[in-house]
Amino acid sequence: MSVVESVASEQLSEPKMPPGVLTEGPVVDAKFRDSYISFAIMVGGSIAALVWAFWQGIGWVEVSVFAGTFIMSTIGIGFMHRYFVHRSFRCGPVMRTIFAALATMAVQGSILKWVSNHRRHHLHSDRPGDVHSPYYDGGGHPYTSFAKGMTHAQGGWVWDRETTDASYYAKDILADPIAMFFTRTRWYWYALSALIIPGAIGYAFGGVHTMIGCILFSGLFRSYLMTMATSLVNSVCHSDGRWGYRRFETHDGTTNELVTTLLTFGEGLHNNHHRFPRDAYLSHAWYEVDINGLIILGLGKLGLVHDIFAAGDAGRHRAADAGRGEPAPAAVGNAFEGDDLRAPGT
Ligand SMILES: [Zn+2]
Ligand SMILES: [Zn+2]
Repeated sequence: MSVVESVASEQLSEPKMPPGVLTEGPVVDAKFRDSYISFAIMVGGSIAALVWAFWQGIGWVEVSVFAGTFIMSTIGIGFMHRYFVHRSFRCGPVMRTIFAALATMAVQGSILKWVSNHRRHHLHSDRPGDVHSPYYDGGGHPYTSFAKGMTHAQGGWVWDRETTDASYYAKDILADPIAMFFTRTRWYWYALSALIIPGAIGYAFGGVHTMIGCILFSGLFRSYLMTMATSLVNSVCHSDGRWGYRRFETHDGTTNELVTTLLTFGEGLHNNHHRFPRDAYLSHAWYEVDINGLIILGLGKLGLVHDIFAAGDAGRHRAADAGRGEPAPAAVGNAFEGDDLRAPGT
C-alpha cells in the first residue's frame, strides 16, 4: 500500500504520540521563541532585501557573496545531515569543529535541534510522529488537503507545539563538547553567516552602500532562500512520486527529484537516502548528481575523514551486474541500530 493510500485508510481517532515528543515545558517555549525570532529576522530581512534591490540595485559583489555563502551553507547542511545525524563517516576533532561551524552557519537551528528532529523524521517517516510530513500534522492527524500537507512540510511544522526531545534522540550530541559548544553559541554563528561575513566583504569591496546590500541580499535573503531550498526535501521529496521518481519501494512517500537535488547538492536523492540512511554517497546512477557525497568521498581520499559508510554499494554492484536497481537485503543500513549512534570522533 502506498503512503497516500495508507493515509486515506487511517482511523480518525485521536492519535497517540510516540515517545521522544514533548508538548509542553521549557523546551517547547524555547522552540517557539527561536521560531518567532528567526522567522521575523529572515522574513523581515528578505522583504527589506527585495525593496533594497528594487530601489538601490545590487551589483556583482552582492551576487558573488550570495553565491559563495549559499554554497557554503548548502555544504554545511550536508555535513549536518550526513555526519551529525547519520554518522556516515568518522573524523577527528579538527574536522568535526569545521563541520560543526559550517552546519551551524547554515542558519537552520542548532546541531542538537536539527539532529533530534531529523532522527525522529526517519523513525516515523510519513507516519504519526513524523516532524514534517506532508501527510500528518504535528499532532499525528492525517491531512485531507494536499496543499495543506505540503505547506506543513515546507515550513509550517516549525509552528507545531510537538517538539522533539533531544535527550531521547540525540544523546551522542549532548555528550559531544564540540557539537554542544556550537549549539550554545548558535546565535553568534548565525550572525557571522548572515550579517558579519557578508557585511565585511561588502564594506571591503564597495563601502557602506554595498555593505547594506550584502547584509540584506547575500546574508538575510540568502539564509531564507537556502532554508526554503532545504525544505523542498521535506515536501517535494516526500511527494510519493508526484514529482521525481522512486527508485526503491519504501514505506513512505520519499522521492528522488532533480531540481531539489541540484539546489541541495544531492540531498534531493531522498528516496535513495531513506533506503540507505547511513550512506555517505547517495547516487545510484550517473544522472543522480550528489555533490555533498562527492565532497565526502574527496575528503576521504585526502585522509581527512575515514570509515565512510556505503551500504548501498552491494546494491549498486549488483545493479551493474544485473542491470537493475534492487539492493541485496543484507546491505540495508539503518541509522538507528547497532553502534550507529556511537560517540563521534576517531
Ligand atoms: Zn525524509
Ligand atoms: Zn536523513
